[in-house]
Amino acid sequence: MGVLAIQGDFERHLEAVRSCGAEGREVRTPQELDRVDRLIIPGGESSTVGMLMMRFGMMEAVRARAGQGMPIWGTCMGMILLAESIEGSDQPRLGLMEITVRRNAFGAQVHSFESAVEVSILSEPLNAVFIRAPIVVQWGPSVEVICRWQDHVVGVRSGSVLGTSFHPELTDDRRMHEWFLAWDPSSSG
Ligand code: GLN
Repeated sequence: MGVLAIQGDFERHLEAVRSCGAEGREVRTPQELDRVDRLIIPGGESSTVGMLMMRFGMMEAVRARAGQGMPIWGTCMGMILLAESIEGSDQPRLGLMEITVRRNAFGAQVHSFESAVEVSILSEPLNAVFIRAPIVVQWGPSVEVICRWQDHVVGVRSGSVLGTSFHPELTDDRRMHEWFLAWDPSSSG
């Protein structure tokens, strides 16, 4: 399992992956991407990471692996980078999900908050941590909404790609990481 380690809170994701008993590897280059079977794109600053991914040849490399069905999970910034469209911005992105995201959707005052959410792929609610979080404001027919907070869409999946506005790596609850490690997008679940 790889974690994109260009900038942001990749260390916490690596710890979470390792605490699930899986091997966690830092991924910065196309060569490192070749060595992993799934990828987490963590929280961070989407405009910076998008620019650096272009510079390192990572946009094309991740798109190619996504095209082969590799599972990819973007949390917060990661979900922004997976989006086809980012409201009011032409910053670089992977464009792997038929979604439009709004960055920092809860405004400057609400920097971060924690709230219980229902995630359709888990049987019990999850305590979700939101930090300058994006929301999904539009989505296409290929996209399944898996989580809402109040009226806002904060979790989506499509094909082998998963996006969440919140940060499961920042709590001790490992259910999202366990789910992602076991996910086989080629079967219906
Ligand atoms: N607001 C950040 C961005 O737009 C994302 C915040 C995060 O990943 N915690 O890139």
